[in-house]
Amino acid sequence: MKVRAAVAYDGRHEFFIEELDISEPGPENILVRMAGCGLCHTDVKACEGNMGVPMPAVLGHEGAGVVERVGARVTKVQPGDHVVLTCDSCGACPTCLAGNPAYCDQLMPLNFTDGRAGEPGSFHSGATEVHGHFFGQSSFCSYAVTSERNTIPVRTDAPLEILGVLGCGVQTGAGAVMNSLAASAGSAIAIFGVGPVGLSAVMGAAVCGCSAIIAVDVLPSRLQMAQHLGATHTVLAHPQVNVAEEIRKIAPSGVGCAFDTTGRADSNQHALDSLTAKGIFGFCAAPAEAPKMSRVMSRGISLRGIVQGDSVPDVFIPKLVDLYMNGRFPFDKIVTKYPFEKINQAVEDQAAGKVVKPVFLFPS
Ligand SMILES: [Zn+2]
Ligand SMILES: [Zn+2]
Repeated sequence: MKVRAAVAYDGRHEFFIEELDISEPGPENILVRMAGCGLCHTDVKACEGNMGVPMPAVLGHEGAGVVERVGARVTKVQPGDHVVLTCDSCGACPTCLAGNPAYCDQLMPLNFTDGRAGEPGSFHSGATEVHGHFFGQSSFCSYAVTSERNTIPVRTDAPLEILGVLGCGVQTGAGAVMNSLAASAGSAIAIFGVGPVGLSAVMGAAVCGCSAIIAVDVLPSRLQMAQHLGATHTVLAHPQVNVAEEIRKIAPSGVGCAFDTTGRADSNQHALDSLTAKGIFGFCAAPAEAPKMSRVMSRGISLRGIVQGDSVPDVFIPKLVDLYMNGRFPFDKIVTKYPFEKINQAVEDQAAGKVVKPVFLFPS
């Protein structure tokens, strides 16, 4: 079957829209006609050759669309269902069985390194093999071949074309606050770096009823956006500002939770210094260097690495859709729509800070 896809080649930092052949879905696969797909930072890093993804490949991992066809062994969805695609997990390892698919023991092969050449959902262009199955979906493509594990049915009255972002970046930020850190109503939280993940964390903190939601960033435009989405205070970070001191002017005994999306050493240190005793420091970007640990010990601070906001996607994604439809999780405000053909323009605009979260629309 012919599809239109954005192909990433080794060493070339851009996407190429091409017509490819996609191999037939198997009995356990779901064929999804794509309505929209978000752009996540991981796509850009993978395109630059940093994630161990075999190339050439079709990337994309925030797809949403309509089920076109299901394999003989699929019972979870049927043709016509609206679905959001998310991170893949095996469902059979002890971590998955304990209800923690975001930390699946097979996370790297299933989502990054497998490529699955020749298997259902892989691609070819003439004699050239093009790898698929990125995050179990490769959704920078008019069709994706998925499986039950990472295909999440959602209500049909929600705007399908933008829902894909809930499958990675948005669930990562919102889930970090709502699930991993479980911020309590009336508590104070600081969020470091308010790009798409941090802004989703701000919205999650608003859902949790945090009394002080402090957004920290180097870009005034992002802080303004954070305020629109529920931040009660903002701190503009620059080298002359002691960010932790600024936070303590707002929450004198410190914040109960600090969440970092930047991985920057200075940001991590400010986050630790802004915490109250027994506070939790959550982070979803690998820290550039280890922070000073003496304070972690003397103040009883917990460190919490976070993947995908500890989401159990079948539960959490429909919950976020409901919150959005009830006006309590306005994630559409961070989205800018582009035609799929403008994918490289979107990557450029996002890198320049002109837009927060591009979503590509596929012609219906
Ligand atoms: Zn697993
Ligand atoms: Zn992502």
